[in-house]
Amino acid sequence: MLNIVPLKAFKDNYIWTLRTATHAAVVDPGESQPVLDYLAAEGLQLAAILATHHHPDHVGGIAELLRTRPCPVYGPKNEPIPTLTHPVSEGDTVRIPEIGAEFAVLDIPGHTRAHIAYYGLESLFCGDTLFACGCGRVFEGTPAQMFASLAKLLALPDATLVYCGHEYTLANMQFAKAVEPANAALAARESHDRALRERGLPTLPSRLGDEKATNPFLRCREPAVIESANKYLGSRLADPVSVFSAIREWKNGF
Ligand code: ZN
Ligand code: FE
Repeated sequence: MLNIVPLKAFKDNYIWTLRTATHAAVVDPGESQPVLDYLAAEGLQLAAILATHHHPDHVGGIAELLRTRPCPVYGPKNEPIPTLTHPVSEGDTVRIPEIGAEFAVLDIPGHTRAHIAYYGLESLFCGDTLFACGCGRVFEGTPAQMFASLAKLLALPDATLVYCGHEYTLANMQFAKAVEPANAALAARESHDRALRERGLPTLPSRLGDEKATNPFLRCREPAVIESANKYLGSRLADPVSVFSAIREWKNGF
């Protein structure tokens, strides 16, 4: 039986921990201490580390973990992460027999040059690319790349559970409401997630089907989103990449 547990790191990062009764794998350990504490408290062996991209809040704990918990480290082939033992890219499969898990690697560049996601167990570990009701900033790629990466994720089944890297959901929803004030699914989702946060619970994982209905960055073909993008830019554009680029820029200063 596999459980997926969020370990908190820094202010709003989650280190997703996939565990059985005896073993665990962690995704994006930006800090080592929460992981070391959890492994010790639960009596677990560390079977693998998975990284989605090179930012320190996702890989900063790896070296320290390896010192006492040596294990394979998977991560993007084309990013500067010196601790990787298994560089991977799209087409590769990550097998972790200790926890009975297998993931397909997807290339989703945009936030960083070679950002990857892990897809398996009807779950998606997507780092800082797709967030609940939002998406990551475009730091190293182009808006067109980021748009294509999100489109790739969008093609996965609606029931897919989205495990992203940060608890940004409520703030993202403030922006989403500015883009689509009349989206009823968004209003319902916000009151649901607000109640979770008031109880100190994560809003994650989300469901990809809910993202399709409420996440403005996945809705660049919706008339209401196109209209808001045009209002922001004071122009009349309609192609989805330009709409995406406009709302991403708008969100940067929101
Ligand atoms: Zn990042
Ligand atoms: Fe991050």
